[in-house]
Amino acid sequence: MKPLNTEYTFISEGKVDFMFPLKYEGDLYRPPSEANSLILQATIGCSYNRCTFCAMYKKKQYRERSLDELSRDITVASGYNPRTRRVFLADGNALAISQEKLIKLLDLLNQAFPDLDRVSLYGNPQDLLQKSVKELIELKKNKVGMIYLGLESGSAAVLKSVNKGVTPAEMIKGASRVKNAGIPLSVTVLNGLAGLEGTEEHALSTAVLLNKIDPDYIGLLSLISVPGTSMHRAFEEKLLTPLNSWQLLEEIKMIVERLELTESVFRANHASNYLPLKATLSRDKELLLNKLNSVLSSKSSRSLKSEYLRGL
Ligand code: SF4
Repeated sequence: MKPLNTEYTFISEGKVDFMFPLKYEGDLYRPPSEANSLILQATIGCSYNRCTFCAMYKKKQYRERSLDELSRDITVASGYNPRTRRVFLADGNALAISQEKLIKLLDLLNQAFPDLDRVSLYGNPQDLLQKSVKELIELKKNKVGMIYLGLESGSAAVLKSVNKGVTPAEMIKGASRVKNAGIPLSVTVLNGLAGLEGTEEHALSTAVLLNKIDPDYIGLLSLISVPGTSMHRAFEEKLLTPLNSWQLLEEIKMIVERLELTESVFRANHASNYLPLKATLSRDKELLLNKLNSVLSSKSSRSLKSEYLRGL
């Protein structure tokens, strides 16, 4: 058994340290900021699973795990580390779980982990539209302290073309419920999602939508085209032109230049990004733009992550 104050260490998707007692079903994904959280697989897969660029849960048939199964996992995990402070509910959108069941699950977690500080989870925009502000406040009272929302783009045309299933107006509606409930909101934007043909529209509209939502955190990932997805086929059939590393950075610059946010933390330090970036935008926007301009003017590939180091 690990020392009680040691947090969990996830080495890569689905692989945990040798002492870790929980077993997971299939590949596991979590935001970079949940690296030290206990990952509890509350659902398997994604209930939507139709975005053209996403292969994460294609091999999984969506289902919710029962409270009995989850209770057993929580008992095992609390034996391993009863002082767990952070829990991330996987897989793709645990927010799809009914309010009643989610509250029961949060109860189990709060009872098992007296030091519990934060439970976080992914939510589809569709899930947010199913939850009222009152329900979200109830989740917050039970320690939900971060919701991760896949925004991807602010452009109605791009959202439609990647089959995201919602419009920018619906994104705003869902995101504002999270903010009104007082739960920190982290949104993900996909750099390169519209190809070279749509880069300007994607960048400009994304900046507009981010300004309207004013999320607490923005995580920018760079698109990695995954074989087997419709988006990959579109690239292969030359219906869409992938952005090269410099064009991806130009697109980030177009977005950042137009952001007018309060305290948002901007991060592009995911494994997929060529250039790690992190800034509090209200304070460091100019520094961020200076860094982008400097790398873009030097065009030195030494400033960028090697292709073989990139990943999802
Ligand atoms: S991007 Fe998110 S919502 Fe879309 S299929 Fe993947 S996990 Fe599901």
